[in-house]
Amino acid sequence: QTDLRVPEIDTNDELSDLAHEFNDMIDRMQRYIDQQRQFVEDVSHELRTPVAVVEGHLKMLDRWGKDDPQVLDESIKASLEETQRMKSLVSEMLDLTRADQIEINYADEKTNVVQLVNQVFNDFKMIHPEFNFVMDDDITGEPIVPIYRNHLEQILVILLDNAIKYSKDRKEIHISTANTKKTVEIAVQDFGEGIAEENLKQVFNRFYRIDKARSRDQGGNGLGLSIAKKLTEEYHGNISLESSVGSGSIFRIKLPIIEDQQIEISEK
Ligand code: ADP
Repeated sequence: QTDLRVPEIDTNDELSDLAHEFNDMIDRMQRYIDQQRQFVEDVSHELRTPVAVVEGHLKMLDRWGKDDPQVLDESIKASLEETQRMKSLVSEMLDLTRADQIEINYADEKTNVVQLVNQVFNDFKMIHPEFNFVMDDDITGEPIVPIYRNHLEQILVILLDNAIKYSKDRKEIHISTANTKKTVEIAVQDFGEGIAEENLKQVFNRFYRIDKARSRDQGGNGLGLSIAKKLTEEYHGNISLESSVGSGSIFRIKLPIIEDQQIEISEK
């Protein structure tokens, strides 16, 4: 770690202000670099387990696999599973880093919220017939949000996938939409296991999983919510969570409506 800070001076003039500002900037840069380093470290850590598992199976195959159909079968299955996990990890990490460049690449994108939510709602109903999806639409007009359609879809899919993964016996999920003059809110509610107060903030952190052993079984990388949060915030929105253990969770995303549309909606 190189220290690029300049010596602070207390002459109380422009020069001392400048030195102070410069050091502030260096500190911010340093924090950013530390975060990146932490990210690379976390990623390496997450990839180490699946790589080690695949390696173990390949070694076993090399030794006994050729003559033992059972070893052959199990090793191939397990290796494929781990490869699948690595693939999803890598693709989620790419999503996370790409979310940094939204303003440049998706500045002109617009999405009709009602249309998109309906499409996702119907898709999920079809893919998960064992669940009862309930729609509670409280939208006035047809608000348009300045967001790339696939990104809004990705956020909703992350929340709905989680709602499904962490539901228990009560297989019911509510999607509700509402708007004010300036914002649209989409909420996803499940009646599953819920999240304890002390974990409410942490679930949005990269690689954070409440129950590491179980989540691994279910194939989660602990990146979904950090992607959803990053994307929402890049589009000047926010994501919030209300939950209690045993009764379920509500995730809410709020996004600004396209500016010149505000008047139209308020006149209705
Ligand atoms: P994962 O891929 O593990 O689901 P996420 O970032 O999407 O990663 O979520 C992080 C953790 O937050 C999950 O491992 C789980 O413990 C918790 N979580 C997320 N959504 C819910 C939910 N709807 N109900 C209960 N717990 C949840």
